[in-house]
Amino acid sequence: MGKTLKTTCKMCRREGVSLCGKERCALKRRSSLPGQHGPTQKNPRLSSYGLQLREKQKAKRLYGIMETQFRRYFDDARRKKGNTSEFLIRALELRLDNVVYRLGFAKTRRQARQMVNHGFFTVNGQLVDIPSFATKIGQEIAVKENKRNKKLIDSMREQLSKATAPKWLHTTPADLKGKVVTLPEGEDLQTVFDPTLIVELYSR
Ligand code: ZN
Repeated sequence: MGKTLKTTCKMCRREGVSLCGKERCALKRRSSLPGQHGPTQKNPRLSSYGLQLREKQKAKRLYGIMETQFRRYFDDARRKKGNTSEFLIRALELRLDNVVYRLGFAKTRRQARQMVNHGFFTVNGQLVDIPSFATKIGQEIAVKENKRNKKLIDSMREQLSKATAPKWLHTTPADLKGKVVTLPEGEDLQTVFDPTLIVELYSR
């Protein structure tokens, strides 16, 4: 695990923003507002193409997804009427692994993905072990009954009660459950990368 952590924060340092989701990230997140053109000033020598590529890289690293899948999210977002950036981030946020992380079941998205892969969670009572599973409003995410050993339950309860879930999610730590109550909107969609640069990149 130690090796993984080290590698992860190398990634955070390279991108200049905390992407690992850990409280003790080697690089604490900047205080500047997310979604602005902060990096533009930081890398004056990067071409606009370079900057666009950089933002896409950040987004992919943040959510831990590969190009093909990321591109699919983008294409889906673009097909919808409205703000492509918002649809893109919303789709990424609604991934089951991200929801598990946001609810506070896991300390990082990487850990959340592993837990999902290992069959720790049910969605509306059904086992779902696909990290990219797109959650929907009203769906309930819970720790699978047979995965509930005392040690895990204790650590998860503690973890859940300490975590502050965003307002589009609701947790009930006592039951080890969480729910998608609404779609992420507005400030829920503010993030460490600038989605407009990604839209520009794919529009070239
Ligand atoms: Zn980090």
